[in-house]
Amino acid sequence: MEDCIFCKIVNGEIPSEKVYEDDKVLAFKDINPEAPVHVVIIPKKHISSINEVTAEDELLLGHIFTVAKEIAAKLGVSENGYRVVSNCGKDAGQTVPHIHFHMLAGRVLGWPPC
Ligand code: 5GP
Ligand code: ZN
Repeated sequence: MEDCIFCKIVNGEIPSEKVYEDDKVLAFKDINPEAPVHVVIIPKKHISSINEVTAEDELLLGHIFTVAKEIAAKLGVSENGYRVVSNCGKDAGQTVPHIHFHMLAGRVLGWPPC
């Protein structure tokens, strides 16, 4: 997707502070962190949001959670805990139309998010 910020990050056209990368998934530090640990985990494949997920994405999206577990361990937040969340659409506050999972940690997180 030509105009997608996260596709540009995948392609290296926009720099990012990478935390994890493999052939299918990239994770990088959020540019505007909402917690001491705020990582954005994305599939390299452009999927606009949860609304556009299909059955063929199931393995890929499952893999994201294996990666999330590894990132949490790497960043030392596994024991204290963390949140993984995906905003879908305007009411949820999705601003980048490339599916992504926020990993938030490093402080006590309120629930529900308002
Ligand atoms: P959303 O609001 O769509 O759930 O989350 C998008 C996230 O991407 C936001 O937390 C925002 O700070 C982050 N973000 C937007 N543009 C960039 C960028 O160019 N680089 C990085 N590292 N994060 C970005
Ligand atoms: Zn994209």
